[in-house]
Amino acid sequence: MEFRDVVKKFGDNTVLNDLNFTVAKGERVTLIGPSGSGKTTILRLVMTLEELTGGYVFVGGDPLQYEDRGGKRQRVPDKVRRRTTTQIGMVFQHFNLFPNMSVLENIIEAPLHVMGLSKAEAIPKAEALLEKVGMADKRDFNPSQLSGGQQQRVAIARALAMDPEVLLLDEVTSALDPELVGEVLTVLKDIAEETDISMLIVTHEMQFARDVSDRVMMFDEGRIVEEGAPEKIFSSPESQRTQDFLRAVL
Ligand code: ATP
Repeated sequence: MEFRDVVKKFGDNTVLNDLNFTVAKGERVTLIGPSGSGKTTILRLVMTLEELTGGYVFVGGDPLQYEDRGGKRQRVPDKVRRRTTTQIGMVFQHFNLFPNMSVLENIIEAPLHVMGLSKAEAIPKAEALLEKVGMADKRDFNPSQLSGGQQQRVAIARALAMDPEVLLLDEVTSALDPELVGEVLTVLKDIAEETDISMLIVTHEMQFARDVSDRVMMFDEGRIVEEGAPEKIFSSPESQRTQDFLRAVL
């Protein structure tokens, strides 16, 4: 996945300013930085939940948007885009499970209707994923019958059901009671160890960032102010901005 010369404005507010970075296959990259620095906007651009103001985002080598002959920016048509966006799984802060479906139905929904799998293919795969996130015994429950940590583990299984190349994690523990954070982070650490899915992570859990990341990018005012291996960023940050931020959150 690549961001090339990306600019994102909301009205006069320039949120991302000429942003360039890549996430290699299997790489785990964590974005840290103050509130409002544009971290969630980056994930939303990858999901095409926001329009770019300038530049390009590539997933699996394909751009998510192009310029027509008149130089006007167009989104890649849905049929093509669907091929690209199914390579991306996203887990949100507020779980966003389908409330009127069971746990199992949540997981097989996209494999059935987007990937075109049969139920005979989708159900065993969903059951294996539920096993992996420790939720096999809750397959027929409704999301409202689950704790926040359990709902988030189902949301992780749902994202993995599409065999994504890239998993986007947007503050996946910040809506949870503190005692439920550990179970979600443990599941994610296991997935990071057992698979080669690329991950782009936004988190306030600095220990988690330290444990799973290959690279940490410190963000401020729409720019990367510093990046490097987690040991370097957390133990000997060079930028004053990073030092101040870490002092405030650690
Ligand atoms: P946090 O850590 O608090 O989630 P963040 O780094 O993820 O912050 P973003 O949510 O990406 O920051 O927001 C970056 C900026 O973009 C903020 O100034 C925010 O007000 C603005 N913004 C985000 N979404 C919109 C929108 N839909 N309309 C207008 N402004 C927006």
